[in-house]
Amino acid sequence: KPIEAYTKTQAQQAAQSLRETINRYSAAYYTKDAPVVEDSVYDQVYRDLQDLEAAFPDIVTPDSPTQKVGGEVLPGFNKITHSTPMLSMGDVFSFEELEAFDARLQKNIDGDYAYSTELKIDGLAISLVYKNGQFVQGATRGDGTIGEDITKNLMTIDGIPKTLPEPLSIEVRGECYMPKAAFEALNAQREAEGKAVFANPRNAAAGSLRQLDTKVTKARQLETFIYFITQQDTLNIQTQTQALATLKRLGFSTNPDSKLCSNVAEVMDYIKAQTPHRDDLPYGIDGVVLKVDSLALQAQLGNTVKVPRWEIAYKFPPEEAQTIVRDIEWTI
Ligand code: NAD
Repeated sequence: KPIEAYTKTQAQQAAQSLRETINRYSAAYYTKDAPVVEDSVYDQVYRDLQDLEAAFPDIVTPDSPTQKVGGEVLPGFNKITHSTPMLSMGDVFSFEELEAFDARLQKNIDGDYAYSTELKIDGLAISLVYKNGQFVQGATRGDGTIGEDITKNLMTIDGIPKTLPEPLSIEVRGECYMPKAAFEALNAQREAEGKAVFANPRNAAAGSLRQLDTKVTKARQLETFIYFITQQDTLNIQTQTQALATLKRLGFSTNPDSKLCSNVAEVMDYIKAQTPHRDDLPYGIDGVVLKVDSLALQAQLGNTVKVPRWEIAYKFPPEEAQTIVRDIEWTI
C-alpha cells in the first residue's frame, strides 16, 4: 500500500521488517562474501526503507542500515581505526534523480562548480598508509570506523607501490577488484574442484583479500584503482582532478576513464557514452560516480552520518540476467 496510507505504528513495523531483511542480506554480502540476492533486489529494499523513514522521520533508529556503513570486521584480523571514517555513498537510479541531486547542490553552492566523473568500480574499498614513502599498513573499510588489517594481503598485489618516489607520509584510498578474466578462471577452477563458486567479481575480490593465508591472495590476481589521497594541502591539491593526477605521478594505478564535466548535462553525456562499453571493460563497473571537483566545496558540503553530500553514484539499471532473485538461506 502507498506510504501515505500507513499509520505510524504500521510504518514502524514495516521499517523493522525491512531492516531485518537488509541486515540478513548485508551479513551474507559483507561478512560471508556470498550474497543471497542480486544487488538490484538489495537496492530496492534499501530504497523502500529510505522512503519510509523519510515519510516518518520519528521512526529512524540509530542502528538502522540507513544510518551506518555496511560491513564489519571478521575475527582473525587485527582491527585498524581509520584516520577519518570510510563512508558509503548515496545512489541514484535515473537521470531525473541525478538532476534532483544537482539541483540540491546548486542551492547550497554559490557560483559554478564542476564534477569529476569516474567509473564506479565493482570491488571493495581499501586504505593504504605510507610512512616516509614506504607502504606500512593496509585496511578494509570494515564498519567505516574500524577496518580489518590486511597489510600482508595487500603486499602481495603487484600494482600497489611498496615505495613511493618521494618520502611522503600519506594515506590513499581506492578500490581493489578482480579482473573479469581472473574471476572466470577462478570460478572454473573452483567448479572443477567441487568448491562453491563466487557470485560476482566483487565478492571474489573481498573473499580473496580477507585470507589468513596470503599465498591465496597472491594467486588471485587482484588489481586496484586509487582515487583519494590525504595531505592535500602539503601536496598543493585543490581538486579531485589534481588528486587523480598526483596519485598517478606517485605510481598508483588510476582509472583512465575519469572526466572533468562542467555541469550535470555533461555528466549525463559521459554516462550515455560509457554505458555501451560497460561489457568491453576488463573489470566490472556498476555505475558512474560524480564528485564535486573542488576540495574546498567538498569540505563546505560535508557528510551525513553515512555518505558525503558532495558525491553520488549513478547506478546502471540491472542487466536482464541479474534480475533473477536468489533468496536462499545461508548458515554459518
Ligand atoms: P556502494 O558500494 O554502493 O558505494 C560506495 C563504495 O563505492 C565506496 O566505498 C567505494 O568502495 C566504491 N567506489 C567504486 N568506485 C569508486 C570511485 N570511483 N570513487 C569512489 N568510490 C568508489 O556502497 P556500499 O555501502 O559499499 O554498498 C552498498 C551497495 O552494496 C548496495 O547498493 C548494493 O548494490 C551492494 N550490496 C548488496 C547486497 C546484496 O545482498 N546483494 C548486500 C549489501 C550491499
